[in-house]
Amino acid sequence: MARRKIVAGNWKMNGSKESIKQLLSELVVHENADVIVASPALYLDYVQALAPKGILVAAQNVSDQDSGAFTGEISVAMLQDLKVSYSLVGHSERRSLYAEDDAFIAAKVAKLLEAKMTPVLCIGETLAEREAGDTFAVCQSQLQAVIDVVGIDAFSDIVIAYEPVWAIGTGKSATSEQAQEVHADIRQFLANESTVVAEKVQILYGGSVKASNSAELFAQPDIDGALVGGASLVATEFNAIIEAAK
Ligand code: PEP
Repeated sequence: MARRKIVAGNWKMNGSKESIKQLLSELVVHENADVIVASPALYLDYVQALAPKGILVAAQNVSDQDSGAFTGEISVAMLQDLKVSYSLVGHSERRSLYAEDDAFIAAKVAKLLEAKMTPVLCIGETLAEREAGDTFAVCQSQLQAVIDVVGIDAFSDIVIAYEPVWAIGTGKSATSEQAQEVHADIRQFLANESTVVAEKVQILYGGSVKASNSAELFAQPDIDGALVGGASLVATEFNAIIEAAK
């Protein structure tokens, strides 16, 4: 089954109204891949208003709560109010810098799914975990924590982003073979519970994806696109990655 490719940019805490306007004006979208940009929350409405047709908008994070006394948080309903239909969940920076654990991340995934929004669930191992030979086990347990809460069938409506922590923002991407090996294991792990879901689910690779390595990554059978950090802020780089996903 051919899965549609997704190229998602994670702008992290970067940009200004001026730089966002410039970047969006330079992006070139193709019909045969979905292009998503995950903007800082403050700019989501602005990005929605300016994004050329074909660019979908994502939040970088969302609350696990509906509303109330949760200072600084942004709810699923607020995202829906802005017609934002995707949110990253469990990015490694959220896990490591803000102590988000698997249960908390699973609760956020559940909230998004209840609202018919699409979570982009980020998983991946640290360098120490890879060196200890625990890569598959770490990814599987991060997935299992979410399966335990939302069930396997819900993964038809979830996008997975495999992002080895050691490759994020380091310039040191996983090789296409390393990435494919983990993507295949993730798909097999899901297939143990549902082959239908495993065939359907889109698994993105993230970690120092750039124009020069994207085509090789996208050529792998279980890599369905990319979650791109630094290179998504540079129009020529991001455009070339989108082009490679055709
Ligand atoms: C990310 O932030 O999700 C990411 C993959 O960053 P980078 O592409 O800069 O490694």
